[in-house]
Amino acid sequence: MPITKPKGTYDVLPTDSWKWNRLEVVIKKVCRLYNFKEIRTPIFESSELFHRTVGETSDMVTKETYDFLDRGGRSITLRPEGTAGVARSYIENKLYAEGNVQKLFYMGPIFRYERPQKGRTRQFSQFGVEALGSSSPLMDVEVIAFSVTALKALGLKGIKVRINSIGDEESRAKYREALVEYFSQYEEELCGDCKNRLAKNPLRILDCKVDNNKEFFQNAPKISDYLNEVSQNHFKQVLNALDEMNIKYEINPNLVRGLDYYCHTVFELEADIEGFGAQNVVGGGGRYDKLIGDLGGPQTPCVGMAFGVDRLLIAMESEGLLKNNNEYIHCYLIGLGEKARVVGERLLYTLRLGGLICDADYLNKGLKGQFKQADRFNAKFTAILGDTELENFVINIKNNETDEQETIPMNDLYKYIINYLQSKTASPCSTCSKKEGE
Ligand code: AMP
Repeated sequence: MPITKPKGTYDVLPTDSWKWNRLEVVIKKVCRLYNFKEIRTPIFESSELFHRTVGETSDMVTKETYDFLDRGGRSITLRPEGTAGVARSYIENKLYAEGNVQKLFYMGPIFRYERPQKGRTRQFSQFGVEALGSSSPLMDVEVIAFSVTALKALGLKGIKVRINSIGDEESRAKYREALVEYFSQYEEELCGDCKNRLAKNPLRILDCKVDNNKEFFQNAPKISDYLNEVSQNHFKQVLNALDEMNIKYEINPNLVRGLDYYCHTVFELEADIEGFGAQNVVGGGGRYDKLIGDLGGPQTPCVGMAFGVDRLLIAMESEGLLKNNNEYIHCYLIGLGEKARVVGERLLYTLRLGGLICDADYLNKGLKGQFKQADRFNAKFTAILGDTELENFVINIKNNETDEQETIPMNDLYKYIINYLQSKTASPCSTCSKKEGE
């Protein structure tokens, strides 16, 4: 039996990998616009990091992590989210010493042992940003604005921003009491998980996909009635700035997000994809002012968000934004005969050193087969080298855009192609269309 991929994982094949690349290029450009700088942290960390940050009561840590002992007997966890690693690195590398806000972004694989379904896999990819060091409500706004700009840059339209405030610790403590009192009356009707949550972390009940359709759920106390003045002010300033920027949002009083470390602003971004159910949430984030301090670093207010890259791609696919990969090569070399193939390989080496994308045939195909391959690669030029050309140090070159063909000195090949490409980029329109496919 051939070996197959582990359950809940997928291969990104060459037919699709350009979509990932395009998305990365676009979001990284938006990161530049907001001056977020990349940070790369390990995909595995000490298990303790996630237990201390994400929280002992979150499903993600109690049920969904990939934990193992390494050969040295250390307890290791494949990262189930990106923030904890960034926070650990911020402290370990004393990034706070600069005294500035650290605006960071990361991208990479995330691992959660969940029940696989469309838009939910066990290895998936997140693109996230974290702003560490500012308690300003405008920092929350900046992170939300980044998310909206990224979605716009990707071309996604039917996007909704859902937002809520879960307040500071004092507000949440009062709210927690109210929730316990309220849900205790319905304890018998709560699902098994929520019975547990009632004792350990009642806010999570609001997140429950099983209980949230039950009638008693609708009348549960709302956090907005428990926010103290500081929390109310923070939230008001966030909303005012979003209004000022004309960024549309919907306040969802039941939005609490699944992790223990959040406070004040929490938000989610939802794509409007038919038949997508709960998996239409393409990203989410919020403020986490206690995390760095809890991990032993200096008290550092932070706010961040993460996109599910896989879901962004599904959303883009469903909006027809990923139809054309525009991939091309500059030159396909057809070598006719053994000698021509060797000389051809040398010519291609020179072209590539000069920055041109080239390919040739390595299966001894005939002339027709090689022309077909040039077409498949969307070659801008096809260079043809046979015995006669070799004898005369010339090469046949066909411009596949204009269908013009001519014979030129072999050594002029690079100059010939470059001159043509440069003449094209002189026109602003061709420049734009070319950039899109790169
Ligand atoms: P979270 O850290 O749970 O807020 O997740 C951030 C984003 O990652 C979500 O909004 C989803 O788009 C995506 N995501 C979360 N879990 C999965 C999963 N199992 N498979 C694919 N995408 C996921």
